[in-house]
Amino acid sequence: MAWSFEHLANWLRPEWRASWWQSVRSPSVLRSRFLALSLCALICCLWPSAPAAAQQALPPVRDLLLGYSSQGRPINAVQIGSGPRKLVVVGDTHGGPEANTYTLTLQLAEHFRANPAEVPPEIRLYLIPTLNPDGLALGTRFDAQGVDLNRNMNTNLDACPENDWNVTVQGAYGQVSDTGGPFPDSQIESRLIRNFLLDAAGAIFIHSNAGLVFPAFCEHAPSNRMGQLYAEAAGYLYNRYWPNYQITGGMHDWAGSLGIAAITPELISGVNTEFPQNLAGLRAVLANWPDVLPTPEDRIEANVVLPALLWRYWKALGATAVFGAPLAPAQPTPDGLAQTFRNARLELRRSLADTPYLVQAQPLGRRSAEMLAYGGATALTPTDPATAPRYFTETGHSLRESFLVFWERGGGADVFGLPLSEEFPGAHCRSAAAHRAIFRARCLRLLPRRRQRAPRTAWLAA
Ligand SMILES: [Zn+2]
Repeated sequence: MAWSFEHLANWLRPEWRASWWQSVRSPSVLRSRFLALSLCALICCLWPSAPAAAQQALPPVRDLLLGYSSQGRPINAVQIGSGPRKLVVVGDTHGGPEANTYTLTLQLAEHFRANPAEVPPEIRLYLIPTLNPDGLALGTRFDAQGVDLNRNMNTNLDACPENDWNVTVQGAYGQVSDTGGPFPDSQIESRLIRNFLLDAAGAIFIHSNAGLVFPAFCEHAPSNRMGQLYAEAAGYLYNRYWPNYQITGGMHDWAGSLGIAAITPELISGVNTEFPQNLAGLRAVLANWPDVLPTPEDRIEANVVLPALLWRYWKALGATAVFGAPLAPAQPTPDGLAQTFRNARLELRRSLADTPYLVQAQPLGRRSAEMLAYGGATALTPTDPATAPRYFTETGHSLRESFLVFWERGGGADVFGLPLSEEFPGAHCRSAAAHRAIFRARCLRLLPRRRQRAPRTAWLAA
């Protein structure tokens, strides 16, 4: 009988402990226990590999809370293994109508929880049963705001214009609707997966029900290879492209643009989980990890090397338009890396891996804000909440018009921090007519001659 916590708990109960003590005091029991212990000692001496085998640890298993949906439902993951390459399986992006992918991902999670040794030591595997718990609870394909999460990602980062984000999208069965969201990465769930995948080598987004597997749209060899392997092992068709219409704002395309190997397996059924097929597909990916799970790569921007994960954050959240170009190589810190850009200092903290804050902008601080706002007259005087389109009680400052639009679209408090000033004429800008606002982690400048353009390009951060 195997030793367990139940046995330990029973033994700790006084009446059990007393009877155990009584039993071991009898001479016959003592004699037999002495013989058993001697035999054990002999086996251990003569068989030196036995203790080593017992010490071989299984890959760790961990339950994670990644964050919450817009209606406050938890978004969870199960992690198996702790290897350097991160592979993420995402179930049920499309809520109620694709609930079988939620059940499938739960089944896969339970399988690997029970068989963690199936995950190679080089891999850490994450399974997210649902990215859209609101859609699952409400019985809809969309999130709680009516946005299609698999059409909301910023897919403007790759070299293919065909898949660029658009508010007007083609959805299930090619139906056209304005469900891409108000702007790319606008939804809480989109931002959550965007941050969680920043350090991923591969991502598998499970959907239903077309019975085929397709990789990221813009040419990416590891994604293509992963799609072929998964399809062959699962017995699904492999299609280089989604054959029915052009997908815009898709998660697999966003992931591929950052160098993450990404595929979308579509189950055949809209009801069954097809567990054996998808277990075979996932096992094929795990077995071929050197070919299909590429290590995130460092990049060169403006003749400066950006370490892989800082580059992904910089690229995915606005690149030069938001952070400016890199000014110097990254420096090591006790917990990771930090690098200075023209408009921000980005920091990677390894202790915050698997949270939305692995990479973040360091605060400028109030003193810096005061220095930057020097000459801005009343810029640091708290505003009247009654006249502010959006007022922040934490800092006593407000945002309006273009600054508010840019702040909200660019990621809000997570990316810029809260405003530490009002909008003010930028005395130190080249154009006296330019306006500035200081945020906890950024200083932004609005150039009037570009006011007429779309908000994203109307801005130069300074
Ligand atoms: Zn779907």
